[in-house]
Amino acid sequence: MSSIAKNIEEIKKEIPAKVQLIAVSKTKPASAIEEAYECGQRIFGENKVQELCDKFEQLPKDIAWHMIGHLQSNKVKYMAGFVSLIHGVDSLSLLKEIDKQANKNKRIQDVLLQCFIATEETKFGLSEEELTDLLKSDDFKQLKSISVKGLMGMASFTSDETQIRKEFKSLKLLFDKVKSEFFSEDPSFKEISMGMSGDYKIAIEEGSTMVRIGSSIFGSR
Ligand SMILES: *Cc1c(COP(=O)(O)O)cnc(C)c1O
Repeated sequence: MSSIAKNIEEIKKEIPAKVQLIAVSKTKPASAIEEAYECGQRIFGENKVQELCDKFEQLPKDIAWHMIGHLQSNKVKYMAGFVSLIHGVDSLSLLKEIDKQANKNKRIQDVLLQCFIATEETKFGLSEEELTDLLKSDDFKQLKSISVKGLMGMASFTSDETQIRKEFKSLKLLFDKVKSEFFSEDPSFKEISMGMSGDYKIAIEEGSTMVRIGSSIFGSR
């Protein structure tokens, strides 16, 4: 068995069946993705649109491609025909562009709204106030070609587990609040994308439904 296959097997033991594993393959060659594919992995995450499109072209068509990185509006069109879930949506203007491109492709685009939960200034994402303002806005209500499936967040880059847990808890709380206020009639608003190689176990304990794992599967970048 390849080491990639072994790594996936080990990680799967740690995550409940209801939690989806996004194998983050950014910077890794198509051959590494093929190894993961051969042991049954079908969901892969990329953070650059060009790389995502190149890999989509080269690899089997039953792969579900997730865009997990920060996204510029002018790049949305390149992946709008095939991307299965966009995790990092953090503005209304980006949502509008995704809606427009999805409509052109006659698709309903699934997205997650990225929320800022970390203490670091460098992380992207909406504040609680920005998130609720967006969801309340008429502009948002007019978007017909997007479906918001949940929230995404990244914890601070720290070894302080108490801090990481606190941040994941805050995302779960925000999810519950937004769910009851805006999506109580929509059972498909159910995803919380949180947890990476270093912190996915804590994330699952705090309610994650999707973990995005790269280096623990494919090795360091
Ligand atoms: C790279 C990346 C990951 C995976 O990180 P690892 O530490 O390699 O597991 C997860 N989420 C996002 C948004 C990333 O950019």
